[in-house]
Amino acid sequence: AATSKEDLRSPICCIMGHVDTGKTKLLDKIRQTSVQEGEAGGITQQIGATFFPKQAILEKTAVVNKDGSYEIKIPGLLIIDTPGHESFRNMRSRGSSLCNIAILVVDITHGLEPQTIESLNLLRDRKTPFIVALNKIDRCYGWEPVPNGGFRESLAKQSKSTKSEFDDRVRKTILAFAEQGLNAKLFDENDDLRRNLSLVPTSAITGEGIPDMLMLLVKLTQERMSGNLMFMGELEATVLEVKVIEGLGTTIDVILSNGRLSEGDKIVLCGQDGQPVSAYVRHPEVKAALGVKISAPGLERALGGCRLYVAHDDDEVEVYKDMALEDLSDLSRFINPKAPGVWVQASTLGSLEALLEHLKLSKTPVRGSGIGPIYRKDILKAGLMLRRDETAHFAVVLGFDVPVDGDAADYAKKEGVKIFTDETIYRLGDQYLAYYNEVEE
Ligand code: GDP
Ligand code: MG
Repeated sequence: AATSKEDLRSPICCIMGHVDTGKTKLLDKIRQTSVQEGEAGGITQQIGATFFPKQAILEKTAVVNKDGSYEIKIPGLLIIDTPGHESFRNMRSRGSSLCNIAILVVDITHGLEPQTIESLNLLRDRKTPFIVALNKIDRCYGWEPVPNGGFRESLAKQSKSTKSEFDDRVRKTILAFAEQGLNAKLFDENDDLRRNLSLVPTSAITGEGIPDMLMLLVKLTQERMSGNLMFMGELEATVLEVKVIEGLGTTIDVILSNGRLSEGDKIVLCGQDGQPVSAYVRHPEVKAALGVKISAPGLERALGGCRLYVAHDDDEVEVYKDMALEDLSDLSRFINPKAPGVWVQASTLGSLEALLEHLKLSKTPVRGSGIGPIYRKDILKAGLMLRRDETAHFAVVLGFDVPVDGDAADYAKKEGVKIFTDETIYRLGDQYLAYYNEVEE
């Protein structure tokens, strides 16, 4: 087993929560540091992910770790800002999450909101340890900021009425978490990280509480991540997004959550059409955890959300091709091509899986699925359900977070195939159920 410091791996932290709670602003605030970007050991912002080296964490937590008595062992922290939940859903590995820890951001003036609860459930399903940043404390009436201060130091400076408003909001939040079955406590009153959820009051504007938040993240990873997760191991990488960039062609944004990727490595991944894709890495060696952008000819067909493998010889290429395709064939348990059912399309593998899981729960049968935009050929396949009256209500394409290609919509109208699209799974499922009930009547 690896034990040298060189082989320590940086954990991955996802930042989640309802829109406008301050996720991006919090990350922006942590990024401001005296360590310059580009300098050795500096903070680097990559694809929707920011790498904070140990030095930056030490600096940012200094006010709450004055004598340096708490030892920071991790070499750094990769924080991923999740636009919606798709990237989190994509960050999976055989059913479990590749995210080691998470920050769930709650706006202290709003309490728990719908996406907070959705995030909460995702985190619980994946058994990901997390903390709550109770953000926007500066919104409490009369708040006197102590820029970048430790939380307790700041709170002590507030007037009696400001403190009482703050206490009241914390109490309400704790109650709301209790309704979700969670025992929440202010972080420094929490003596059992395993049992209770920690709330860290923060302000992304004044920076207050951020030192406490980072310190808690470090403690949580060091105390809750099992030993071998802390060390560099086999390559584990997931495609977050497939993008076309002018001058670069098709690129894939990859989160390297374990192991190393080196120049000349041959990567193998799953293609949108269910065929394997391979390409060569053209950048110098990088080590987990971090986000990298890979551009190479052949990546046009790469599938968002799939895992990525590195093959060292031709035999390995064959093995990994099979493994890469397993991600897709895993989904076959949700689909019965021989029975009547709807057609579904989603933007990535992770979102397709989530949609299929949801449809299964709502007992909507699925005949076929695809990843990417809705094309004429998908309408054609859904249209087969029109041949018999009793299956006509399945002549439907459900699109989750995907566009409808040019003439596909007109074609659907002409053929009598319904297209439903939505950016959330629940609403999409509900749209179909409403339609189903309507035609049943
Ligand atoms: P996101 O959708 O969760 O990424 O939220 P943003 O980071 O984009 O923030 C949403 C809005 O809330 C922006 O106008 C921010 O300036 C504001 N905001 C974020 N954090 C704070 C905070 O701690 N205090 C105050 N007063 N405003 C904040
Ligand atoms: Mg944001």
